[in-house]
Amino acid sequence: MRASMPGRAGYRDIDLYAPERSPCRIDLSDNTNAWGMPPAARAAMDVVAGSPRYPSLYAEELKRALGVYTGMPPAWITTGCGSDDVLDSAIRALTEPGDRLAYVAPTFPMIPIFARLNGLVPVPCALKDLARSGARLLYICSPNNPTGELVDRGAIKRVLKSASADQVIIVDEAYFEFCGTTVIDLLRSCDRLLVTRTMSKAFGLAGLRVGYALGNPALIAEVEKSRGPYKVSAVAEAAGVAALTDGLDWVRKHIARTIVNRERLLEELCRRRLPPLPSAANFVFVPLAGSIAIARAMRDRGVAVRAFDEPAGLRITVGEWSDLADVLTALDEARSVCS
Ligand SMILES: *Cc1c(COP(=O)(O)O)cnc(C)c1O
Repeated sequence: MRASMPGRAGYRDIDLYAPERSPCRIDLSDNTNAWGMPPAARAAMDVVAGSPRYPSLYAEELKRALGVYTGMPPAWITTGCGSDDVLDSAIRALTEPGDRLAYVAPTFPMIPIFARLNGLVPVPCALKDLARSGARLLYICSPNNPTGELVDRGAIKRVLKSASADQVIIVDEAYFEFCGTTVIDLLRSCDRLLVTRTMSKAFGLAGLRVGYALGNPALIAEVEKSRGPYKVSAVAEAAGVAALTDGLDWVRKHIARTIVNRERLLEELCRRRLPPLPSAANFVFVPLAGSIAIARAMRDRGVAVRAFDEPAGLRITVGEWSDLADVLTALDEARSVCS
């Protein structure tokens, strides 16, 4: 008799997350900060790195710094081991197994995975039908990954208005810094809105895993329960606080540089008759048939970008212009090889 498989039945057909991540000369595949992290954050890491003690329970110092940065009181903020962890904790805290999570496809690929890991049924849905889907949790990503598009504020407000009392709406603002547009001003009038953010993109702390969410204190308290204590390491908290204070000028300077290079990349792609989608983020999505083969040929030329199948296209992280020039050369060559 065959031994039964270990583990939850619902996990059987969930695979490990495995995007192509082998090292590449120029890697513009994951939307992290191409210039690194603020020097002040790097220096702050050294100060605490040798401590044998546990970190703070719920990252109170980080919450205070995030409070100053966002203009929200610390009681309206929760943090986590990357916003992945914040999203996962929120899904777990605010739903029951068997509930549905509705999202607008294509979007952040971890969302349907986190839904299933928590026993939820992920359902792709049109933006205008989100509230009507009857799903317990509604997910909107703005600017959206991988398309880069900013979701219309009026449309988000309509979702909030038509949502019923037992629905929670998550707006993922991982790329907020590259457009400056936010819905956190709606938090005080909507107690079922949770806005998630990350320090992995504009702040350059992807390797340290620092994410956060903003919401009504009652909602935040539930997410903190499911998140649990000690979720942000001492090194990550110190770097996060430094990035939000002494490092903020560095961060702002590189956001501005990213936006200049993004606009130049958009122009260059248009010149090649490869009209990209408009972008409010630190990446550009180029609709392109045969994207998987083209990305592979670009990798052979030392340049990594992220290929998507549905819709077919390439997502290119905006970095230093010299690297983007190499991306364009590799793209030109790959297209002629693959055609
Ligand atoms: C990168 C990204 C995240 C995850 O960020 P971490 O804080 O590194 O976990 C969340 N949402 C979106 C849309 C992202 O692109």
